[in-house]
Amino acid sequence: KADVVIVGAGHGGAQCAIALRQNGFEGTVAVIGREPEYPYERPPLSKEYFAREKTFDRLYIRPPTFWAEKEIAFKLDTEVTRVDPAAHELTLSTGETFGYGKLVWATGGDPRRLSCSGADLAGVFAVRTREDCDLMMAEIDAGTRNIVVIGGGYIGLEAAAVLTKLGCKVTLLEALPRVLARVAGEELSAFYEKEHRDHGVDLRTGVAVDCIVGDGHKVTGVRLADGEEIPAEAVIVGIGIVPAVGPLILAGAAGANGVDIDEYCRTSLPDVYAIGDCAAFACDFAGGNVMRVESVQNANDMATCVAKAICGDEKPYHAFPWFWSNQYDLRLQTAGINLGFDRTVIRGNPDDRAFSVVYLREGRVLALDCVNMVKDYVQGRKLVEAGATPDLADLADASKPLKELL
Ligand code: FAD
Repeated sequence: KADVVIVGAGHGGAQCAIALRQNGFEGTVAVIGREPEYPYERPPLSKEYFAREKTFDRLYIRPPTFWAEKEIAFKLDTEVTRVDPAAHELTLSTGETFGYGKLVWATGGDPRRLSCSGADLAGVFAVRTREDCDLMMAEIDAGTRNIVVIGGGYIGLEAAAVLTKLGCKVTLLEALPRVLARVAGEELSAFYEKEHRDHGVDLRTGVAVDCIVGDGHKVTGVRLADGEEIPAEAVIVGIGIVPAVGPLILAGAAGANGVDIDEYCRTSLPDVYAIGDCAAFACDFAGGNVMRVESVQNANDMATCVAKAICGDEKPYHAFPWFWSNQYDLRLQTAGINLGFDRTVIRGNPDDRAFSVVYLREGRVLALDCVNMVKDYVQGRKLVEAGATPDLADLADASKPLKELL
């Protein structure tokens, strides 16, 4: 039993434990995590770690010795399978039970799997954990060169960029008419599509996958709905996540796409909070729309919000959303959430590989996507925070610093 039990030893779980101690919490804290590793950073799994520019020991959120120093207990390689809200008790995959005073659910999500035949063949990979990434890297080391990436979201695109650098022949398949369709405007999609094609990726949009084909054991290719078969020795699937909230929902917590939380990150169960990728909330920066935000920023800031609440300093969650993605030598930084935008303004020239897309609604700046434009990102987020309504001609003039438009 512990006073605070955190389920999930990822970004949110780690930050919640850290923030509890930083805010003077003196009770017992236990973190229960399904993966065998102490908390590590996930973004490098499709970037520097995958590209072998960073070794795993550089990914730890804190050195493994830190946790014992702070008297934060860990149970790794252990899954929580059941929650009993009345008894304030968890059941673990080991068969043990574990009591909690407060419970923080920080379980992220599991990679969404293809529903077609062949999805279970050897050589079909997801990208969520260190283990996933190590398996892919071993495959490439074994000489695999023809790779199909399914899904043109950030993870699929980042993986394609790394694989191309490693000398692989990459085909990227996106079902929608453009990549990044769910998160970005058309200008950004078009820019990244061109970038990947210029780097040799065979990028195809609006294509439906019929099935994964194999030799009975290992993948040999991907068949499209029109009958074409693309040869592949490995397939990487990046088509989103399914929030890992099964035990909480079975215990009666409200939720559909993830678990529902209120403005204090509380679920509908007593003494149970939820944070990070698995939590659905009415987002201030998206016009109050209920959504899950899958970012390190959101996991960390929700974690801090909950830790403070547990320490007696309860305030509504209202943290500014930001995100990044690295592909080739391009650093994308996004500020705000563009949901519901009705127009965009481009600053700079995409052909120069340094530009920003500003998203507006009724003249108000909602969000920015900044490609190799650090200044726009830093200054632009102030426009979003202020709900600024700048003159559009000024906004389009990249020689005018955004801070002058406040
Ligand atoms: P996680 O970090 O996923 O941690 C959840 C943990 O809970 C996992 O270890 C999981 O195994 C464990 N768990 C699940 N169920 C149970 C259970 N029942 N019992 C015990 N443990 C359980 N975000 C950015 O902002 N920028 C980026 O560039 C970026 N790149 C990314 C690249 C990749 C390849 C991936 C996978 C993600 C990336 N993200 C990025 C997203 C970011 O990593 C997530 O938003 C963040 O990790 C969410 O933190 P979390 O604590 O909610 O979940």
